[in-house]
Amino acid sequence: MKGKKTMTHASQADELREKYYHSMGAALTEEGNLEEAVVFFQKAIDIHDTPYAWYGLAQALSDAGDVAGAVGAMTRAIKLAPGVPEYYHERGILLGSLGRPDLADDDIRMAVSIDSNYERIDTIKQAVRIISEAFGGPVLPGDVKGTEVRSKELGRLLDEIEARGRQMDAVFHKPSCPVVQCPAYCCHFTGKLFLHGVTVGPWKLQSLRKSLNEEGVPEEDLLETFPLAQAQHGERLFSPQDIMRRGGVASVTFPRQKDSRLGGELARDVPKGQDYRTLMWISENAKPCIFLADGRCSIYDVGGDPSLDSCASFLCMTGFVFVTLKYLGLLNDGAMSSKTMAELNGIAIDALIILASDVYGSEETVASNKEITQELKTAIELDRSNHEALCGAVIERYDILRARHDSLADRLIGAAGRKIARLFKG
Ligand code: SF4
Ligand code: SF4
Repeated sequence: MKGKKTMTHASQADELREKYYHSMGAALTEEGNLEEAVVFFQKAIDIHDTPYAWYGLAQALSDAGDVAGAVGAMTRAIKLAPGVPEYYHERGILLGSLGRPDLADDDIRMAVSIDSNYERIDTIKQAVRIISEAFGGPVLPGDVKGTEVRSKELGRLLDEIEARGRQMDAVFHKPSCPVVQCPAYCCHFTGKLFLHGVTVGPWKLQSLRKSLNEEGVPEEDLLETFPLAQAQHGERLFSPQDIMRRGGVASVTFPRQKDSRLGGELARDVPKGQDYRTLMWISENAKPCIFLADGRCSIYDVGGDPSLDSCASFLCMTGFVFVTLKYLGLLNDGAMSSKTMAELNGIAIDALIILASDVYGSEETVASNKEITQELKTAIELDRSNHEALCGAVIERYDILRARHDSLADRLIGAAGRKIARLFKG
């Protein structure tokens, strides 16, 4: 038994090492350190020949200008995961830039045949950018934030803007996903939960212990630990507060999994990530977290601390769009309840595009945003140069423009809401 445990830890240590190399590869690609990124992806592949490491390698090679190498790496990713549309789509783009439009067209067609949304993938990605910025972007222009002002009126205005930002943060920080039909795909994992970053922090652990104690359930039945000493670089993958000493060894604690598997039928309707990429860790063999009960997290509120940090930071594309619709008052629970998960995934994409094109990215909204931001900057400049009266006049104009902007937003959101409501009737 002891030997078996050591073997399991050894293979998990390998998986963790692979994850470290792979994450480093991705981080270095983003930083533009492409030579190093290629080395890290290759190290990851030496441990496990995974499609996502080949995909990462393809991106690093492509960014480094080795397009032929990138096509080769992407081909390997496709061989390992032939059902992932973005691999064909990306390879199609690479082949196009290599002067092979015939092969590129085949790949793009293949991506569309797997997922028809690839016909409008650029529109989807643009819509994601617009909505993420509208709901997660800075509420004040960078050079205005934290500005000390003389004018009381200007101070009131900046406070109002910051309060609006805080209100939005509260909605989008650790949101509870309103998609009740979802079997909570995001709580299913292929492999142990800690390999996907789902670990229990000290406060949640304390509250969990208390409640398990009250119920008479032994902690080991629900929680597992992994000693990080067994994995090179393991400590760099977890947030420092989630690394705790267990039996004198720095370890992470994570929920066990149930024995059931997601299965092929449910796995067909797995939503995409917010970047419209396939969620590679949710396969038909994925097993649910032990705390998943009737599609919901049974420890979400334990200890008054919503969710685990790692769980709270994830919302799939469908979840993100429905949280946004709920915030805007456009969610009709009744209409939603009659829809399948596959239908909701489709509605989420259509709704996202409507919100981006008709509301937040519309010409009227963009122009109005620009206008009020400019007025705000002018007011701050006048305040800094001690032009009190002029500053007051600009603030008055700002207030008028802001009111006009808010009524424009109400009108556009109302019209978009009617369009979105029709999606549920289709
Ligand atoms: S975030 Fe996505 S996967 Fe998770 S419950 Fe919501 S819809 Fe389902
Ligand atoms: S702890 Fe809760 S939210 Fe996190 S994976 Fe488990 S059931 Fe899901």
